[in-house]
Amino acid sequence: MSDLRKYEYLFLGGGKGGKSLAMDLARAGKRVAIIERGMIGGSCINVACIPTKTLIRNAGRHHDCASHGPSDARGADMIAVGHNVASVVNAMVEMNRQAFDASGLDLVIGTGRFAGPRQIRVHAEDGTEQLFEGENVYINTGTIAVVPDVPGLRDLRPLTHVEALKLTELPSHLIVIGGGYIGLEMAQAFRRLGSKVTLIHDGPRLAMREDEDIGAEILRAFVDDGIDVKLNARLTEASGAHGTAVSLTLDDGTIVEGTHILVATGRKPVTDDIGLELAGVARDAHGFIEVDDTLKTSAERTWAIGEVARTPMFTHASFDDYRVLKAGIEGRVRSTRSRTVPYALFIDPELGRIGLSETEANARGLRFRVAKLPMASVPRARTNGTTRGFMKALVDSDSARIIGFAMLGSGAGEVTTAVQMAMLGDLPYTAVRDAIIAHPLMSEGLNLLFATLK
Ligand SMILES: Cc1cc2nc3c(=O)[nH]c(=O)nc-3n(C[C@H](O)[C@H](O)[C@H](O)COP(=O)(O)OP(=O)(O)OC[C@H]3O[C@@H](n4cnc5c(N)ncnc54)[C@H](O)[C@@H]3O)c2cc1C
Repeated sequence: MSDLRKYEYLFLGGGKGGKSLAMDLARAGKRVAIIERGMIGGSCINVACIPTKTLIRNAGRHHDCASHGPSDARGADMIAVGHNVASVVNAMVEMNRQAFDASGLDLVIGTGRFAGPRQIRVHAEDGTEQLFEGENVYINTGTIAVVPDVPGLRDLRPLTHVEALKLTELPSHLIVIGGGYIGLEMAQAFRRLGSKVTLIHDGPRLAMREDEDIGAEILRAFVDDGIDVKLNARLTEASGAHGTAVSLTLDDGTIVEGTHILVATGRKPVTDDIGLELAGVARDAHGFIEVDDTLKTSAERTWAIGEVARTPMFTHASFDDYRVLKAGIEGRVRSTRSRTVPYALFIDPELGRIGLSETEANARGLRFRVAKLPMASVPRARTNGTTRGFMKALVDSDSARIIGFAMLGSGAGEVTTAVQMAMLGDLPYTAVRDAIIAHPLMSEGLNLLFATLK
């Protein structure tokens, strides 16, 4: 083993928040290193947001071109799709590599494990090891997909999103397990690429964190796409040969047969084998690193960033962790407490969300009014032929402020950002109702939505 390499700032894992902070510090002349086991730029670019959204775009195009909608007989050319996904990913990885270089940080490729407080031993692929020490250490190792412990399932080596993105042949019948955000995006994408798709979900409705009307509308859209959705269905056994013929038994005795399985049933933090006990870093019962609202861990001069610290599982939330940490370094105060994190779900119709859902507002006993508008009432939805879905806003009965917004419809994510600006500006809903919004935009629906409130 060679000499100890010392840095002022040392990052274990190069996720969104960590790499952003590392580059800032390096540009400011600090001695900085990122230890990354291979995904330059983190999971978003390599195996998550960017490739999945590119896959979805390919699927949408294929679906639009197919004269009679999704058809098993005319599946997409997965070699071409794969090339497109890889070219987008590779270009973004290269942009990240160049930005790292330009910032002056040291990128260390290898798997890191704590050897003691603020000391990390790195194993490179060529078998060499090196010990690193940081005056300040940041852990940004993210999460990975969990394959549930169902008899026979792990032996089949089912796909997760990572392997699904590398398929060179279209599954003729894909069984997706899990009706959360990742399962929904992947199920619809593969259906629209031309696979037969069965979606198995262990719950009474899809997208369980959303209000019932949203889950119901997504279900209708999926059924219309030809996806066979099985709700309240718990998997009890799996058998067969993955890629050829698989058979899943559900708790009511139903047998579901297909060719491939994609598991999207949850994620676990990457904390099992990184030596946190040697670093003095405490974890919670689920394995996430315990942090305070400035992301400080139980160990001296050691912080955690992103999903591993139980930050909401979105790239922009990890990026906000960067803001929190940067403020701390600069002596300003910013915390993770009470932050409002919007998000989008890239299915058709798209879901945009910010603030409270109706279910959450009711659970908190708030006094609020609900405005709801079918997308069919929005002129731009008519011109585009995308009339499925609705907009829904929650308005505080006393202050007239918007406390929550959901939209299922085309462009929902962007419209949600417009609502977010009103919320950030602390505007009453009447300001949005009476704003002059260009016609015919999807956002114009906000005028109509808030006009429904008397
Ligand atoms: C399929 C899918 C789709 C998604 N789509 C979206 C989306 O559309 N929008 C959105 O906002 N979010 C999306 N997400 C979530 C988003 O990808 C993450 O929230 C985001 O990447 C932030 O992650 P992070 O900063 O916690 O760490 P990550 O980006 O996960 O980075 C962790 C890094 O640590 C490295 N690492 C781990 N252990 C070690 C070790 N021991 N040594 C060295 N390196 C190590 C990993 O290789 C990885 O690069 C999606 C996630 C998935 C799975």
